[in-house]
Amino acid sequence: MGVRDAVGDLRRIAFLLERANEATYRVRAFRSAAAALAALPAAELASRALAGTLTELSGVGEVTARCVTESLRGEEPVYLRRLLATEGADLDEAAAALRAALRGDCHTHSDWSDGGSPIEEMALAAAELGHEYLVLTDHSPKLTVARGLTAARLRKQLDHVAAINAALPAGFRILTGIEVDILADGSLDQDEELLARLDVVVGSVHSGLRDDRARMTRRMLTAIANPHLDILGHCTGRMVASRPAGVTGPGDRGHRARTRPPSDFDADAVFAACAEHGKAVEINSRPERQDPPKRLLRLAVEAGCLFAIDTDAHAPGQLDWQRFGCERAALCGVPAERVVNTWPAGELVDWAATHDA
Ligand SMILES: [Zn+2]
Ligand SMILES: [Zn+2]
Repeated sequence: MGVRDAVGDLRRIAFLLERANEATYRVRAFRSAAAALAALPAAELASRALAGTLTELSGVGEVTARCVTESLRGEEPVYLRRLLATEGADLDEAAAALRAALRGDCHTHSDWSDGGSPIEEMALAAAELGHEYLVLTDHSPKLTVARGLTAARLRKQLDHVAAINAALPAGFRILTGIEVDILADGSLDQDEELLARLDVVVGSVHSGLRDDRARMTRRMLTAIANPHLDILGHCTGRMVASRPAGVTGPGDRGHRARTRPPSDFDADAVFAACAEHGKAVEINSRPERQDPPKRLLRLAVEAGCLFAIDTDAHAPGQLDWQRFGCERAALCGVPAERVVNTWPAGELVDWAATHDA
């Protein structure tokens, strides 16, 4: 029989998590489950897996029980498979290659909303970093704390960008965009006509982050299905740590440093919808966001999603933060060809336009 060593699989997962420097509580979950199950007669293990009563055992949770059930069916547990996908890869090398492949940044802010610098300075800094384009994505009206742009101000910004573009170095351009709020009902916080006109639309949840799971899932699915949305921004909204030293002052309005748990939604459904609609999942590079968390990022890779490795920069120096996102992407096995900002500007804009068609 092709029955696998279920306890061995749990230990292997714990080992790989430790090696990847994952949180201790997560490693401990697998180690304690392995210890609890190793003490059990094989027949009882099998009958409990069949009956779905493994979680009644102390030390065995939903995730570990699922791994055991898959092992006993003779399958490689999905959790293990995801970890093995990046095993043996030289992650530093993979992250550097990914960073080198990036041609632009799809999520940036200027002093028109809560950024600290004029559009021109952001553009020149991006050009100096070797980018071919910068998508300017200032906030939308309802995010008043970040001075979100009304339709009238956004129209004015579009004229301004056209003028700046004419004066920028050849081979570099600002693409128009927005970070539009995903409202409580999943609709997008800007005029249709404007959303249709923009090159790239990032949609993010900034309010009601504690919505219950069903409500948040519905809200996100509605937004992803909206033809104007191209990239799903910082999908969990979590804040993992206070901002790095030196990052204060202008550019921080509306983004106070505090930790915040990830919002709760059905990640399988959300990533499946992104894959189905050809929308990209943002890998947000901000050190205090690191969003999505690695577990979800691996899930999105497996779901076949596209990605955008973005800085969400609110100041020129932050445009260099892409390497943080590249490290997490490499760790989770994100293939470069599925990262939309490795594509030339024309291809990126064409891709975004297919959603509006
Ligand atoms: Zn902002
Ligand atoms: Zn945001």
